[in-house]
Amino acid sequence: MTQWRCDECGVGRYRLIAAPYLVKLGKQMMVMPDAPAYVCDICGFRCFDDHFLASMQYLIRQAANDSRRRTRKRQPTQQPEAPALPPLRHKR
Ligand SMILES: [Zn+2]
Repeated sequence: MTQWRCDECGVGRYRLIAAPYLVKLGKQMMVMPDAPAYVCDICGFRCFDDHFLASMQYLIRQAANDSRRRTRKRQPTQQPEAPALPPLRHKR
């Protein structure tokens, strides 16, 4: 039990629980099965931990930037260069 009063009913207090967190990313759905959340012991109002939400948003932004970079690399105008072969060693 935490010392924070519920934002919804103003009577209950929050209890830390693990709850599934769902994010819709375009056509995909991402699920975090055990996200840190707070639930009111009176009305059952539920909210997620602020730090958790901030880090999730950061991760999603990073992943979006990464996939954008990868999409650009996959364009046919930019052919990947052939890997440089290691120098051959001649046996004496
Ligand atoms: Zn409440």
